[in-house]
Amino acid sequence: MSNENNSSNFIKNIIINDLDTGKHDSIITRFPPEPNGYLHIGHAKSICLNFGLADEFKGKVNLRFDDTNPIKEDVEYVNSIKEDVKWLGFDWNNLYFASDYFDEMYKRALVLIKKGKAYVCDLTQDEIREYRGTLTEPGKESPYRNRSVEENLDLFERMKNGEFKDGEKVLRAKIDMSSPNINFRDPIIYRIAHSHHHNTGDKWCIYPMYAFAHPLEDAIEGITHSICTLEFADQRPLYDWFVRECEMESVPRQIEFARLNLTNTVMSKRKLKQLVDEGVTDGWDDPRMPTISGLRRRGYTPEAIRNFCREIGVAKADSTVDSQMLDFFVREDLQPKAPLAMGVLKPLKLVITNYPEGQTEMLEIENNAKDETKGTRLVPFGRELYIEQDDFMEEPVKKYFRLFPGNEVRLKGAYFVKCNEVIKDENGNVVEIHCTYDPETKSGSGFTGRKVKATIHWVEANSAKPCEFRLYEPLILDDAPENEGKHFLEQINPNSIEILQGFGEPTQLENAKTLDKFQFVRNGFFSVDNKYTTDEKLVFNRVVPLKSSFKPGK
Ligand code: ATP
Ligand code: MG
Repeated sequence: MSNENNSSNFIKNIIINDLDTGKHDSIITRFPPEPNGYLHIGHAKSICLNFGLADEFKGKVNLRFDDTNPIKEDVEYVNSIKEDVKWLGFDWNNLYFASDYFDEMYKRALVLIKKGKAYVCDLTQDEIREYRGTLTEPGKESPYRNRSVEENLDLFERMKNGEFKDGEKVLRAKIDMSSPNINFRDPIIYRIAHSHHHNTGDKWCIYPMYAFAHPLEDAIEGITHSICTLEFADQRPLYDWFVRECEMESVPRQIEFARLNLTNTVMSKRKLKQLVDEGVTDGWDDPRMPTISGLRRRGYTPEAIRNFCREIGVAKADSTVDSQMLDFFVREDLQPKAPLAMGVLKPLKLVITNYPEGQTEMLEIENNAKDETKGTRLVPFGRELYIEQDDFMEEPVKKYFRLFPGNEVRLKGAYFVKCNEVIKDENGNVVEIHCTYDPETKSGSGFTGRKVKATIHWVEANSAKPCEFRLYEPLILDDAPENEGKHFLEQINPNSIEILQGFGEPTQLENAKTLDKFQFVRNGFFSVDNKYTTDEKLVFNRVVPLKSSFKPGK
């Protein structure tokens, strides 16, 4: 993965300085997902950053599941996260679970209690919120704040032993109810939850809160640089307070960077889960989802995602990236890799009336228009073909150069054909067009007798492979859904998927496997769907159309 992360950023400068001054001999970073959903493209940014830094500075990186909330977590998510990180091309030095540190965290909470820096509080959740005050008003002290160390030790142990109901008591840090930083107003450290945990089973009925658990997890693992998103900046003093007051030997440094936001995209596991639960999408890996598994199924490649993450860089101010930038990188990656094929998405039968019945021939066509070294393939051609409905107009509009009665076009890699007759059904719909071809005009024969203004693609009807083509538009309509007053579920694009039954050429697609990529002539880059493809029918997801005017700014 070296050389993929060479652009400079402020975090690298911090690391270089820490290594130069001898603060650290080597670095350890971590990617700490909570297993309460599937990873999304925003997580990819964090993964590329944390794994990229460890790689570049020859340090280590841990994959750590931040599994301190048993209510929302599940092994399904744990497994998907591991798969996604590997698929992106990264490997961790250690795999850890925060829940493995529950004993250690409990001990550290006792350290706080013994120092008089934590107490058991009986206020309800609502009361705690009320007592906390606001940005402009100081908070009020809990009446339980001055319990003795002995009483706190006893109550906390009984909390652990399951003597109290959920919500009856919490353990809070005793810091400063009038601090201008609200995070310091006696934050909750432990809460009671009689819930089964995916890793520790029923061993615990008290669970540490994120603000307390996270710094301890980092310190326990000897993380040197704990990289998180900007919204945690206000929590950094509290992070440092817990590391110090819990007397952790190793002192990690929290550094915040801007999270990735994309246009036309919701990027929060909570919202993505809602899309899944309410059946708006076909699971977490729906090709319209910004999840890693959705992008994979759609046909995005790890290289494209990594290049995208490198291009967007790491900054300290939030911004929204145009999702077309991701498309730019996938096109760039697929252009040299994905073999050309002809596929007809909306078929219209074309019969060449002067082509001998029962005859076929094999035509040699290149595999990559921009790269001769990719070679050629033989594509069957015959009397009956499919072309795109859009490539024919009975009454052509101005500047329409493709097929219409009396007009001649080139069939890609084959011959000129001229339309002579239009066959319609009883409702007047065009069902077939009859053409004649000119054998002299065979592609590659050097024919220069006359010119045509258009080349269209085609598939030979008898040998064609039935294919389903799935075309996508953004799932979310507005450009900045998070900023509008509207609920994101009201902004779902009703036309985000179009499913077409068409045909593909047989040769190139003969051994097509799940997730194989093709560039269908004029129609875009496609990937074989890993859920709906069967032996009878290939299902293709369009990754991106061929062209866009978008170029990332340098
Ligand atoms: P979400 O907001 O989607 O629920 P999260 O922050 O709650 O995400 P975690 O599982 O806690 O999800 O995230 C793991 C890591 O990924 C964290 O370090 C977090 O900062 C980072 N991360 C999450 N979303 C983004 C994003 N949009 N851009 C960059 N990093 C992100
Ligand atoms: Mg989180």
